[in-house]
Amino acid sequence: MLTDYHLHLRSDALTATAAEHFTQANVERYRAAASERGIAELGVSEHVYRFRQALAVWRHPFWLEQARDDLDAHCAFVREQTDLRLGIEADFVAGREEQMATLLAARDFDYVVGSVHFLRDRAVDMDDYSVWQTARSAEEVWRRYFQTLGEAARSGLFDVIAHPDLVKVWGRERPRPEGDLRRYYEPALEGIAESGVAVELSTAGLRKRAREVYPAPAFLQMCVDVGVPVALSSDAHRPEDVGAGYEQALALLEGMGVGELCVFERRERRLAAIGTGSQAGAS
Ligand SMILES: [Zn+2]
Ligand SMILES: [Zn+2]
Repeated sequence: MLTDYHLHLRSDALTATAAEHFTQANVERYRAAASERGIAELGVSEHVYRFRQALAVWRHPFWLEQARDDLDAHCAFVREQTDLRLGIEADFVAGREEQMATLLAARDFDYVVGSVHFLRDRAVDMDDYSVWQTARSAEEVWRRYFQTLGEAARSGLFDVIAHPDLVKVWGRERPRPEGDLRRYYEPALEGIAESGVAVELSTAGLRKRAREVYPAPAFLQMCVDVGVPVALSSDAHRPEDVGAGYEQALALLEGMGVGELCVFERRERRLAAIGTGSQAGAS
C-alpha cells in the first residue's frame, strides 16, 4: 500500500484561505490524483503556524503574520467531512517543547510530522528571516541544522521527521559544505535512531532547486541501516503534486531493500507492505 501523509490542502500563500481550500471538493481533487497514482492512504498535515493556537507556542514575527485560522475547526473538518488521516506539520521550536506538546495533546491527530524550518529565529528555507543572511559559513548552517534535527527527534513530539535534509533546498543558490556529507547527518541520525521516530522520504526536493529527494540517498541509507522506519510523502501543496516523483522514491527504497512503509492511526504506527505493481485499492 502506498501512502501520502505530508499533504497541504492549500499553498503557502497567505491569500490561500481556509474557506476556499478546506472543502470536500478540494479534498476530492487530491483523492482523484492519488487514486490515479495508486495511493490509497492519504493524510493532511497543514502547517501548525497557520493556526492561531500556534501563537501559544511561539510568537516569531512570521508566525504572527501567518496565524489566522482556527485549528479545532480544521480538525473537525478533516474528521467529519473527509476520509483523510488527520496529521499536522509541527515545527520544532527549541525551548518551546512543552507548549507544543500541550497544543498537540489537545487534539486527536493520527500523526505529527515534525519539521525544522528555523534555527532559533532564522529560517532555513525562506528568504525572509533567512539564516543565510547571518551565517558565517555553510558548514555552520549545516552543522546546526542537523544538530537541531537530532534534537527534534529526541523531543518525542513527533511521529515522523519531515524533509530530513531541508537545508539543501536552495541547491546551488546557497553555499554547501564540500565532500562527503555524512559527517553532518551523523548527529541527526543518532537522535532519530535513539528516539525510534520514523523518517520521511519526501519527493518535494525533486521539485525544488535541490533536485533530489529528502533525505539524500546517503542519509536515507544510514537510516535504513539502523532500522529506522520510513514514511513516504510528496509534501504536495496542490492536487497535481500528490504522489509526484514516487517512481523514483520507490526505486530508491527497493534498491535499499525497504519493503514496508509506516501507516498511522491515532498516533499508533504500524508497517504495511509496499507491494508490487499497480497498487490502486490494495491494502
Ligand atoms: Zn516543511
Ligand atoms: Zn509541508
